[in-house]
Amino acid sequence: MQPTVLIGLDGATYSILDPLMAAGQMPHLQQFLARGVRAELLTTPHPLTPPAWTTLMTGRSPGHHGIFDFLRSEVRAGGAFFTLNNFRDIHCETIWSIVSRQGGSVTSLNFPLMAPPPKVSGSIVPGLLSWRHLRRNIHPVELYDELKGLPGFNPNEISWDFEHEKKAMQILEDEELEPWTQFHIVRERHWFEITRHIMEQHPADLTAVMFDGVDKLQHGCWRFLDPRYFSAQPSAFERRMRELCVQYFHELDGFIGRIVALAGPQARVFIASDHGFGPTETVFRINKWLESQGYLQWADRTAEKPAAGHFVALDWERTIAYAPSGATNGIHIRVAHGPGETGVAANEYHAFREQLIAKLKELRHPETGVPLVRDVLLREQAFPGEAGKSGPDLTLVLFDHGFFSVLDAEPIVWQRPLVAGTHCPEGVFAAAGPGIPRGIAVSQQSILDVAATLLYSLGLPVPSDFEGKVMQAAFEPAQLQAQPIVTGPPTTSPSGTVERVAVDADAEADSDEKILQRLRALGYVE
Ligand SMILES: [Zn+2]
Repeated sequence: MQPTVLIGLDGATYSILDPLMAAGQMPHLQQFLARGVRAELLTTPHPLTPPAWTTLMTGRSPGHHGIFDFLRSEVRAGGAFFTLNNFRDIHCETIWSIVSRQGGSVTSLNFPLMAPPPKVSGSIVPGLLSWRHLRRNIHPVELYDELKGLPGFNPNEISWDFEHEKKAMQILEDEELEPWTQFHIVRERHWFEITRHIMEQHPADLTAVMFDGVDKLQHGCWRFLDPRYFSAQPSAFERRMRELCVQYFHELDGFIGRIVALAGPQARVFIASDHGFGPTETVFRINKWLESQGYLQWADRTAEKPAAGHFVALDWERTIAYAPSGATNGIHIRVAHGPGETGVAANEYHAFREQLIAKLKELRHPETGVPLVRDVLLREQAFPGEAGKSGPDLTLVLFDHGFFSVLDAEPIVWQRPLVAGTHCPEGVFAAAGPGIPRGIAVSQQSILDVAATLLYSLGLPVPSDFEGKVMQAAFEPAQLQAQPIVTGPPTTSPSGTVERVAVDADAEADSDEKILQRLRALGYVE
């Protein structure tokens, strides 16, 4: 197989990368683009990390792979409860096992939802995992001891719970931003060392690593990163933060250069983000608005503290539309299936939904007068497929692509004191290597097509049930002629590929609680 490398950059956007390249801070990326192709990469209908990376890994859309969020919520007696999604919740086969079962080997580092890891020929170190669960979720198990022997290896510094993140990104104090940024600089160094070690000691046909600090920094540090927002007369603190952010991207650029060098001239290297990024200054408190329209009631606040995992205290007998998660921008409509059940009658569902959409589209920003809601995606349109029914009934696209807030707070529309970063649909894609055009920009590509493109690069057929196609614009016509695109048998069920691991239920619940805290810290769960 043709050696193929994927470098994932969580949340990368050309609006930040281009000025850094122009300033000479990312010379390796600049050289890479000069000898390859670049394109914008359009993400999933809602630009969120877990559904987007899962689409990239499966060649399938969220309505098929079933991942809409970090968590899934369920309304049961007494409230709504969150459970963290993991590998077992992905309904479609991932590229790691598609390659592996056809005789190839893979390396997958720091991708979300990869625990418990599937049985593949190669190495998997999952991302978004508490360090205490890293050992038993690394594949193969003996790899953990090998990584432990790397100079300076600290599982606490590569994984997902740590002391710095006690507070929400939105309210990170200035003095917390500096250690936050430094933490991510150190963390990427660890992920690079793991990548280097595996590329040297256990080379694979498909090597993929994801660097997620790009996303983390851009959320809190947009005002230092985006030249349009950086102060004309920066304070000492602002200058220091700008330097640290530039250092992060400069080091990341060095890792890109070294991975490309390690891969060698025969390899094709692909760079992709899960979504793009942009500025946001407005917060729309969706549940507060649903309350103002009479669709939602908060629970009695004097009632006893809700059980752990209870996300928002709602009065379930008087709530017919609600937003469970600040990450999905999704509104769920409750349908009453029998007498005495709360919700809209099944035969009134469509009319109710239309009325809700019309009201949402009428909303205006109180200061600028622009429509707050740019678009409202219907479930069956945004998430066609078997798994789509667990997605939100409505997905809001806000005017600035901001995430809405699910909290019970005033005012309904709140202006942030300082600009923050938020996810946008247009991310980045780039590729270079044998058979790839040199130094050109091509039209926008789709994240759905990355998996098929990687399989083609490896010389493997594209499974017949893939929604994604090979990006023909990423290859020379001569390459496509010499190696025609082949469609092969459909994917297989992912369930048979999961390694059996002993599950310590208490430890798992404890770990889930830690990750929930992390998600709260990032502002995805409130
Ligand atoms: Zn992301």
